[in-house]
Amino acid sequence: MKKHPIVIAIDGTSASGKSTNAKLVAKALGYVYVDTGAMYRTFAWYCVQQRVDIHDNKAVAAACRKWKTSLECVEKNGLRAVHLLVENYFPEKEIRTAEASAATSLIAAVPKVRDWMKKTQRDCIQFGDLVMEGRDIGTNVFPETDYKFYLDAKLEERSARRAADGVHENLAMRDQRDSQRAAAPLMIALGSKVINNSHLTAAETSALIIGEVHRRMTANA
Ligand code: C5P
Repeated sequence: MKKHPIVIAIDGTSASGKSTNAKLVAKALGYVYVDTGAMYRTFAWYCVQQRVDIHDNKAVAAACRKWKTSLECVEKNGLRAVHLLVENYFPEKEIRTAEASAATSLIAAVPKVRDWMKKTQRDCIQFGDLVMEGRDIGTNVFPETDYKFYLDAKLEERSARRAADGVHENLAMRDQRDSQRAAAPLMIALGSKVINNSHLTAAETSALIIGEVHRRMTANA
């Protein structure tokens, strides 16, 4: 028997293919896709807009208490995805720059911000079964799920993928910040299937994930 709702947690290093694969898996299974990195990026963007000093943890926590947000589930090209809106606005392109990425890993280390994010991300269950990608989904946001994945690839491969998208950034620095912070650092959750996809296509990686989900579902039946 399938337990409802199901959460497939996909964590991993920056540019390890989490978004591409999470979207493919969500589409294939008819689940709702949640990009938690986009939520952290949206908050970093908001702080910059509001001229909050992103190096000042107290100021960042205060901004997090006061921003006005809402969640919506949007369907586009056969994919249902959760969007985090700020005062009814959905920032999309502007949160993807190298500057936004660097600012994001700073605000993401603030415990009050992580508490807010965890609550908001858990609220996404209202939209149904989820494929949620991030850094701490299997360890912290939905530690109870049986469907945990950890993606990684060689640094050169990951940097080349970002460069192909036109973004040149220091991924090693971001991974280091994400893995070394005290609050919910990036790490491999117990029970995760680890996939290094340096030499795999997205179709191959997502097929591995879907196969493992079905295997675990059968084992749970
Ligand atoms: O996945 P993405 O590269 O968009 O994430 C941007 C940043 O957001 C990460 O480098 C990390 O600092 C933060 N993040 C996080 N926890 C998550 C998702 C993202 O700390 N679950």
